[in-house]
Amino acid sequence: MSQTNVVVVGAGVIGLSTALVLSKHKSLNVTVVSKHMPGDYDIEYASPWAGANFMPVGKEGSNLRAFERATWPEIDRICRELPEAGVHYQECRVYGRKKDEGTAVGIWFQELMKEDPWFKDLMPDLRILGKSELPSSCDTGTSFKSVCINTAIYLPWLAGQCLKNNITLKRGVLSHISEAPSHHSTGSASIILNCTGLLTSKLGGVMDTTVYPGRGQIAVVRNEPGAMYTTSGTDDGPDEAMYIMQRAAGGGTIIGGCLQHGNWDGQVDPNLAERILQRAVDICPLLAPETGKVTELSVIRHGVGLRPMREGGIRVEKERIGKDWVVHNYGHAGYGYQSSWGSAWAAEKLVLDILEKEGKMAKL
Ligand code: FAD
Repeated sequence: MSQTNVVVVGAGVIGLSTALVLSKHKSLNVTVVSKHMPGDYDIEYASPWAGANFMPVGKEGSNLRAFERATWPEIDRICRELPEAGVHYQECRVYGRKKDEGTAVGIWFQELMKEDPWFKDLMPDLRILGKSELPSSCDTGTSFKSVCINTAIYLPWLAGQCLKNNITLKRGVLSHISEAPSHHSTGSASIILNCTGLLTSKLGGVMDTTVYPGRGQIAVVRNEPGAMYTTSGTDDGPDEAMYIMQRAAGGGTIIGGCLQHGNWDGQVDPNLAERILQRAVDICPLLAPETGKVTELSVIRHGVGLRPMREGGIRVEKERIGKDWVVHNYGHAGYGYQSSWGSAWAAEKLVLDILEKEGKMAKL
C-alpha cells in the first residue's frame, strides 16, 4: 500500500495527540520532529508545566468551546479505562467574586464561574454551592466532577502510544516550516502539521505575530487538598490567580498561579511564590491541617510555564506555504489539554480534505 508522508512539528500535548489521531490511518506514515520531547522541562515547552485539569472556559461560538465539548468524553474514557495514562477524577470547586469581572483572570474564567454554565450537560455532578460551602471572600460557586492529569506520566504515555502506532519520534530544530519534509523518516513528506505552540511566533514561514506568552507560575507540593479549587481572582493584582489541583499517581499538588500577558520571563519570582502558597492555604485549609500556615507546605519545586496565547483563539487551519500543505494546530493558551482531542480531530479533518482534493483518498 502506498503511503502519504506526514510530518508533525512539535511534541507537546497538541503535536502528540494530533500525531496519534493521524496514525490511526494506515495509509499515513507519520514522523514527529521536535526541539523538546516528553521528559524535558524548558521555558519554551508549555505542556509539562500544566496542572493539568479540565475546567471548561470556551466562549459562545468559539472553536475552543467545540473542542472542549469534543475532548471531555475522550479524556473521561482515558481516565476510566487506561490507568497507565496518569489521569484521575477529582471534584472541581470554582468560586466566583463579583469584583473580578473584567480582570485578566476574571475574563479567562468568565464562563467557568457561571452558575448556569453551558457545560452543565457535559461535566458530571454539576451543582450550585450553598452560601455555607463558600469561602467568606466569594459570592458564588459551583462544583462538578472533573479530572487532573499528571503531565509527567501523560506526555510519555502519549509518546508511547505514538511509538506503538509506528510513528517515528525525533529531535530537530526548524528555523523555517519548509524544512519539515526533510525531517521525515523517509526524507520527504507531502503534509506538515504545525503544532509548535508559542514558538509559532518565531517560526519562519508562519511568524504569527498574534501569538504571545501568558506567563504562569506554579508550585508543586506534597500536601493533599482533597479536591480541586479555583477562584475568579485574588486581591493581589488583576493577573494573579488561585488554583489548586492534585495530580494523579503521586504527581503532587499543583498550586497556581498567574496569567501575565506578554511576559516571557522564565525565572521564578520568589515574592509571587509566597503569595501563591498563602492564597492556597487561605482557600483550602486542608492543605495545612495542623497549623494553617504556609510553613506546613512541603514544596517539591516552583516553576514557570508560558501558555501559548493567540489573539484570535486556537488556530486549526490549512494553508499552502510554498509548495507544501501545512495544517496549523496551535494557540491553545491555558487550555491545551482540555481541548487537545477536539482540535486534533479538527486537524485530522483538514488533512483528509487535502488528500481528497489531491485525489489520494482512495489510499486511506
Ligand atoms: P508546547 O507544549 O509548548 O509544545 C510545542 C512543541 O513544539 C515543543 O515540543 C517544541 O519543542 C516544539 N517546537 C516549537 N518550535 C519548534 C521548532 N522551530 N522546531 C522544532 N520544534 C519546535 N491546559 C489545560 O488544559 N489544563 C490546565 O490545567 C492547564 N494548566 C496550565 C498551567 C500552566 C502554568 C501553563 C503554563 C499551561 C497550562 N495549560 C493547561 C495550557 C497547556 O499547557 C498548553 O495549552 C499546552 O501545553 C500547549 O501545548 P502545545 O503542544 O501547543 O505547546
